[in-house]
Amino acid sequence: MSRFWSAVVHGLTPYVPGEQPKLDNLVKLNTNEHPYGPSPKALEAIRAATGDSLRLYPDPNADALKAALAQRHGLQPQQIFVGNGSDEVLAHAFMALLKQDRPLRFPDISYSFYPVYCGLYDIPHRTIPLAEDFSIRVEDYLPQDGEQPGAIIFPNPNAPTGRLLPLEAVERIVAGNPDAVVLVDEAYVDFGGESAIGLIDKYPNLLVVHTFSKSRSLAGLRVGFAAGHADLIEALERVKNSFNSYPLDRLAIAGAVASVEDEAFFQASCRKVIATREKLIADMRALGFEVLPSAANFIFASHPQRDGAELTAELRKRAIIVRHFKAARIDQFMRITIGTDEQCDILVEALKDILGR
Ligand code: PMP
Repeated sequence: MSRFWSAVVHGLTPYVPGEQPKLDNLVKLNTNEHPYGPSPKALEAIRAATGDSLRLYPDPNADALKAALAQRHGLQPQQIFVGNGSDEVLAHAFMALLKQDRPLRFPDISYSFYPVYCGLYDIPHRTIPLAEDFSIRVEDYLPQDGEQPGAIIFPNPNAPTGRLLPLEAVERIVAGNPDAVVLVDEAYVDFGGESAIGLIDKYPNLLVVHTFSKSRSLAGLRVGFAAGHADLIEALERVKNSFNSYPLDRLAIAGAVASVEDEAFFQASCRKVIATREKLIADMRALGFEVLPSAANFIFASHPQRDGAELTAELRKRAIIVRHFKAARIDQFMRITIGTDEQCDILVEALKDILGR
């Protein structure tokens, strides 16, 4: 703390991401990265972009990436916004679209960056408790007793629970709030959900945000995008151009375009993670764990007799890192990223050891 800090800085509570330990030989299942590498075509494109052209600024509009994404999703390029990771895309959306006079609504258990952005941009908000089974209740997001949400955001599948809200339920929320932006954060949707991007031409209030960090295994490249009505996208572009005109560098644009064009690799790599997830869920249930249904590349699991923090610490002693959240209702749980088959087997063996099985 310093007397030179502005009042804004004093009031901030920064987001603390999952740790990135520097040790080798860890089974690292704490930050939902993809266990296998990105498309070889993406790596090749990144290598090819590391030449003399790095002297030059990148395309500030990343038109090549917008065109590739628009084609992949059946949209127009002006319906796509790209940014430096979906965190940056979300940051711009909070400022450009979610800051309204009426409170923004989001689930009390969801991505912990949302309250951070609300603090940063001074956004009035109301958190809504999840149902008993950790699902999102559609009625809580519809105008009630004459009170309309200012805007709505939720992850789908939700994080850290992994639970999916079916597309028809998402559509009821979007259709029920024609005067409010509904942002669906689909960071994990490729692992078993159905994207709301297909609804965009029907609903001008719908914004869908995706990341290249999970299903495309490019977390290190920092690429995310939003898809929505051109008016919503224009608002994001305005904020971006007032903040950082070059969010994506040349390597990121080249790698992301090649990744989008390698559809076969993408589909196969998502299928692989899903198959491993289903096996891990079965193995953990056999050990007595309660595991929420997951449509993501992680699971949320608790043991009726064992404390979540203690299990996390025991795993850590065995060089396995999972995520534990010290928060109401979920402190019995561990969020476990789906690793390779081998990593998941190591995890299951360690849990057997801890449980004395
Ligand atoms: N949304 C959700 C729900 C997430 O869990 C994450 C990853 N922590 C993000 C967005 C941001 O991902 P990135 O910035 O890597 O695109």
